[in-house]
Amino acid sequence: MIRFEDVSKTYATGVEAVKNANLEIEKGDFAFIVGSSGCGKSTMIKMILKEIEPNSGRIYINGTDITRLPKNRIPHLRRSMGIVFQDFRLLEDKTVYENVAYAMRVIGTNQRAIKKQVPNVLSLVGLLNKSKAYPNELSGGEQQRVAVARAIVNNPMMLIADEPTGNLDPETAWEIMSLLNDINRRGTTVVVATHAKEIVDKMEKRVIAIDKGVIYSDIKKGGYVNDHRDN
Ligand code: ADP
Ligand code: MG
Repeated sequence: MIRFEDVSKTYATGVEAVKNANLEIEKGDFAFIVGSSGCGKSTMIKMILKEIEPNSGRIYINGTDITRLPKNRIPHLRRSMGIVFQDFRLLEDKTVYENVAYAMRVIGTNQRAIKKQVPNVLSLVGLLNKSKAYPNELSGGEQQRVAVARAIVNNPMMLIADEPTGNLDPETAWEIMSLLNDINRRGTTVVVATHAKEIVDKMEKRVIAIDKGVIYSDIKKGGYVNDHRDN
């Protein structure tokens, strides 16, 4: 589903953010990308989303090399992915319902399907009773649940999250990760970049560990791996 072949990214400043990354994430996987701040997690995520381009190497999404994808195919690529960020990125002037409905509207979904699907996903994330609330009336955890609902409302094949619990207290963080786990169990491939060590350890999922742009460990079912240079 996601495949990196010798992917490297050096920014214009000369920072080598990702070096020769090789990686394969299968359909249905739940994978953490872990490592300390600045190790290259967001750079990996941004290349998957085709927000930035690698300098070399190939990135395949469902068999398509997205490094060679014409610009006009990017919307189609993004439709296969639900995306969640650390800072929620909700539309502040829209209600919870409207935030989620909007994601369906922009891809041309008809009103009837929207009316049916939005309550379904809000119920899945436990926020049906907050449909009419505005983001500033919600807690951080609730706002992130809305963002998750919005990310999955169009039934994407994969859910990509960059530090989804970075702004949340530990208990709320755990609830959000459990929610992502539920979504994975329902069949969506989930990729989460995080440095939330305790949660990663508890969940026993696939853990891809990066240090200074290098993938130095990839464990099928494990915990957070500390920087190998510390040991
Ligand atoms: P992480 O998400 O793991 O914290 P990033 O992928 O954001 O790491 O950053 C990896 C490295 O690339 C860091 O050294 C960071 O300062 C650098 N970097 C990130 N984005 C840019 C950019 N747009 N221009 C230059 N350097 C960048
Ligand atoms: Mg980051």
